[in-house]
Formats: sequence, C-alpha cells, structure tokens
Amino acid sequence: MIFTETRGNDGTRDASVSFAAALLSPIASFGGIYSPAELNPIPDDFLTRHINSDYQAMSLALLRHLAIDIPLPVLQQALALYRRFDDDSDPAPVVKIDHNLFVSELYHGPTRAFKDMALQPFGLILSELAQRQNQQFLILTATSGDTGPAALETFRNRANIRVACLYPDGGTSDVQRLQMVTETADNLKVIGIHGNFDDAQSALKSLLASPTFKQRLQDLDISLSAANSVNFGRIIFQMLYQFHSYLSLVRQREIELGDEVVLHIPSGNFGNALGAYYARRLGLPVARIVIASNANNVLTEWIDSGRYDLSKRDLVATTSPAMDILKSSNVERVLFDLFGAARTRELMQGLDANGWYQLSAEEHDRIKAVFAADYCTDEESMAFIKQAFEQGYLLDPHTATCFKTCRSAAFAQQVNIIYSTAEWTKFAAVVDTAINGDRGHTDEAALASIAASAKIDVPAGIAALFEKPVMHPAVVEKQAIEDEILKFLES
Ligand SMILES: *Cc1c(COP(=O)(O)O)cnc(C)c1O
Repeated sequence: MIFTETRGNDGTRDASVSFAAALLSPIASFGGIYSPAELNPIPDDFLTRHINSDYQAMSLALLRHLAIDIPLPVLQQALALYRRFDDDSDPAPVVKIDHNLFVSELYHGPTRAFKDMALQPFGLILSELAQRQNQQFLILTATSGDTGPAALETFRNRANIRVACLYPDGGTSDVQRLQMVTETADNLKVIGIHGNFDDAQSALKSLLASPTFKQRLQDLDISLSAANSVNFGRIIFQMLYQFHSYLSLVRQREIELGDEVVLHIPSGNFGNALGAYYARRLGLPVARIVIASNANNVLTEWIDSGRYDLSKRDLVATTSPAMDILKSSNVERVLFDLFGAARTRELMQGLDANGWYQLSAEEHDRIKAVFAADYCTDEESMAFIKQAFEQGYLLDPHTATCFKTCRSAAFAQQVNIIYSTAEWTKFAAVVDTAINGDRGHTDEAALASIAASAKIDVPAGIAALFEKPVMHPAVVEKQAIEDEILKFLES
C-alpha cells in the first residue's frame, strides 16, 4: 500500500511513502496528511472465506491484502492484543437491540472507549519500528478524555517510546482523569492544565513551535511522533471491525452475504467514519454511512448542503465531549479520495483562509451517495439513554446520538448497525442524570447509583481506579508545560 499527500507535494519531501513511514511521520506538504494512493477491493470470495474466521484471522487477512510494510510476526503480535479484551475470542461483540437494529460495541478494551481498538495494536507497532530503527520517540498528546488513557495504556513500558499527555483539569470525567493520573509506568507523564481542551491543544501547539524545546529534543536525540487519528497507523485498525460486525450478522443469520447494511457512527474528528468509508471502498456491502453529531453539527451541515462552514460557529460544550469538534481532520482524506490532491488543497486552503468551503453540486452528489447525517441535542440524547435503559440496555451519551440517526424514516427498512464508542462507566454522571434525574452526584456516586438501578456491579476495573494512588498530581499553567516535559525527558 502506497501513501501519498492529500494536498500535493511541495518538493521538500517524498511525494509517496510506505505505511511505516507515514506512521512514523504523519505530516505532509502544505499542511496535508498521508492517505492511500489507491485501494484495491477485496477479492470476491473474501467474505465467504472468512465467514468463520475470528477477529484476528479476518483482520490479518485484510491487512495482508492491503500489503503494508510491517513484518508478519509484528502484525500477529499486534492483533493478539485483542485477546486481552473482555471476551478473548471477540473484541467487538454485536448486540441485537431491535429486529433491524444492532450495536457493535467497540469499548471492551482496557480503557473502555473505542480508541483502544486502534491504539492497542498501534502502540506495539510503533514501538517495534522505533526499536528496529534504534530511535527514541516522544508522543505528545492533548486529550479531551478518551485518547489520553488509551495512548498511555498502549505505550506503558514499551521500549523506545515516551508519552507526555496533557488534559484539561476539570474538563474530563473523574474516571477518565483517574485512568490517566494513576498510571505507574516510568515512560509516561501526565500533566493537568488550567483551562479547557482547546487550551490543552494550543499549549501543545506552542510547545511544538518552541525553538528551545525542539533544540532540547535534538540534543537528547528524541524524535516526535503523533498518536492522534490523523496518523494512518490508527485509521488502518479502524477499517477492520466493520467487516467483523457484518460477518457477525451473517453468522447470527440476521443478514445474508451480499445484503447491504447502514452504519451509524458517533463522529468527532471523523476517524471512525473514515474507517467505515474505506471498508465500503474495499467492497463491504454498505448502503450508507450515517454521521451522527451533537450540537456541534458542522458535519450535518456539510453532508446536507455541501458547505463546510466554521465561520459562524463557536464550539459548544455538550454531554458528548469526544464529539465537541468543529474541524474534523479526517474529512480531508475523503476529499482527497473522491476529488484528488489539487482540489483538496484548494478546498482546505479555502477553509483555512475564510473559515468555509462549498462543494460543487456534482461533488456534493458524490458525498451524498455515500454519507447521510443528523445531529442529536443533549436533551434528546438523555431521553434515548433513559429509553434504552428501560428496555434493558445501558449506553453512553456519544452512542446515544446514533439512536437518533437510526430512527430516520430513510433507514426504517434497512439493517442498521450503530458503532458504540464508549462504555457507560466513562460518563456516569450524565448517564445517572438521564436515568435517575440530576442529584448532583460525583462520578463515583453516579456509578453506584446506575449499578443499583440496573442491578449490576460497577465493573471491577473502574471501581479500582478510586482506590489507586495518584502518581501524576501536577496541574499547571500553560507556560509551565515545557519545563515539566523537559524534566521528565531528562530524568
Ligand atoms: C473519539 C471518540 C469519538 C469520535 O471519534 P472520531 O473518530 O474522532 O470521529 C466518539 N465517541 C467517543 C466516546 C470517542 O472517544
């Protein structure tokens, strides 16, 4: 598989690179990113042959079909990490909710959000590549709550990698914060900052631009890499579970091979949706990919009107914070795949300069042929959580947005699969309020309250977080971050 730059080549770097190169160094010319130059559809008999394959075997076959330059034993080790998920034979079980509605649960990994699906294998591969090249890497990440824990967990004690993770103090749930600040491995550093997620992100950007910081990294012989979803090393593990859920429904005799399904995806940075897009491009029978948003519904507008417009919007804080995003980085890869590098560069430069771009009518038609979209308010999302609970199913506020999209009349006759991105335990205060009314509970009390209402136990791994010692107490002002990270690198 060859990767090329979404905005064309500026002459200062390679116009096309291998998968491993794109993974180690994800940023391309003109502010673009690396994307597959082409995608070979799966052979006609691929699905038939893998009807009875488990997740790892099917995934390995798909990755080998994609021909990425990662040694086979490393891929096998990476995929074996899925055996540590709740059910060692199925990391992403599909649950039936209604006669034509299914939930593919992507949160059964160590940190209880879908980020583990990609970051678990990604962490092993990055560390293996770093060791083979005898290079030391620093992963810098700013998190709104799910990426941080998953990145820390995957890189803990991995050779040649250190991670510094910034989170907004007070901007995450208690469970998310505790997952980070109780990490014990020496190669991990967690820093709270005074401010919101945007402040954490902008602190990270100024750090990356700081000449003294770059010089120190050079002196220490440490390279930077990124673990966010512009890194294709993550995306590639987000185009496997759609095949798995499809084959699961065939095995459960809910569909027949060849039937089309509709995929519903709670979306923020568009990494999960992009994986679905590539799965469809590879030949999975997908009628439509439905993008679910919260009140930050720029993607709904884009798909409905062809206009991507940030100019009249401010970010709104919602009960689904992992989807509180206006500039969804991975949309660029869809533009590139459909319209090519020259047009992508033109559109993205328009967005950067003016805050908006408008697709032509013909381009918009091509988007609508693949995607549909809707958004769900916090009030609606709470009502869906309560309703699902009364029918015996617990869901989190991100997943709840898809309970709106799948009720659209357009999909009433279709088989609908919702991709569930987080366990209820990560957003207990919201879920408890939806089910039991707002009683001003802390997360710990909310977890107990939900467990009592549902007559289940709080999962042991979550309950244990509240007993662990805090290893990373630091909460600092933005200006102090550089010092904190340098102290960590020099220790
Ligand atoms: C990251 C995340 C999302 C958004 O996924 P994207 O790939 O950024 O679109 C949705 N829900 C949860 C719970 C997440 O952690």
